[in-house]
Amino acid sequence: MKIRIENLDKIYKNGKRALFNVNLEIENGMFGLLGPNGAGKSSLMRILVTLMKPTDGVVSVNGFDLQKNRGEIRRMLGYLPQDFRFFTKLKTWEFLSYAAGLSGISNKKERSEKVDEWLDKVGLFDVRDRSANKLSGGMKRRLGIAQALIGDPQIIIVDEPTTGLDPEERIRFRNILSELSQKDVIIILSTHIVGDISSVCKDLALLNKGEVGFKGSPEELINKTKGHVWQVTTSGFEYEMLKEKYAIISTIPAEDGWEVQLVGDKLDVKNKVEIEPNLEHAYVYFMEYLTNKNSF
Ligand code: ADP
Repeated sequence: MKIRIENLDKIYKNGKRALFNVNLEIENGMFGLLGPNGAGKSSLMRILVTLMKPTDGVVSVNGFDLQKNRGEIRRMLGYLPQDFRFFTKLKTWEFLSYAAGLSGISNKKERSEKVDEWLDKVGLFDVRDRSANKLSGGMKRRLGIAQALIGDPQIIIVDEPTTGLDPEERIRFRNILSELSQKDVIIILSTHIVGDISSVCKDLALLNKGEVGFKGSPEELINKTKGHVWQVTTSGFEYEMLKEKYAIISTIPAEDGWEVQLVGDKLDVKNKVEIEPNLEHAYVYFMEYLTNKNSF
């Protein structure tokens, strides 16, 4: 599977430019799309799932143009939107069976097996006879996951994957996705939470104000941040100055002041120790770089 995004622009009717010359190539495995709120992630996702047309640019899936082959591409897609809502009188299993039917599983026996399998996978088997409307928020989210995945889609798009899930559910969902990522599928996770981009993401792109600021592996991003992350023991006035000048990642009370982790260039303070960056440091550093146009 291969998705190619070329020179994509989206300008809304009110003149708001949500995407600016986006170019990406996405191959099998898990791909993380990371950026703050308002970066343009949902706009890009909506274009990819053919719910919205771009203003300019081309998206192709395995060489097929997204606009010209909407039907074919829709059948390959499983989409879990950020605000998955439904209004239905159906029971939980009926809802899932309906979704399975829509995704093309017409054989009754196969459908019923798939429904049971997915009810079990997302932990809804015990509530299968409950009206889908009466499920709790987390359960509805899990039903959303099941309806997106029941048709064995080859392209799975998940907007803000952990919204509404408790920690245990997050782990379960992550495991489902990482199991799926071993197959011939593309999984795109769009999120503003660095922790959602787990180690299974082979590649990621950082989006900020509609522009791709980085594309590559998480390791590459982390490597680019080496030499820019510091731990400083500080207090009082100097701490205030650091807050003004640098992006603070964490502050822990120390014996006489604070132990602060921060990212920045040319750090002009004593008592500093360079530390190994992680993905969160790298993300903060990159966002600072993108917004302030500092150089690496
Ligand atoms: P994200 O998903 O990263 O939070 P969005 O794609 O939702 O970002 O939004 C990107 C930008 O486009 C934001 O400034 C947002 O306000 C704007 N935007 C989103 N949808 C619309 C719309 N329908 N009309 C006008 N502006 C929009």
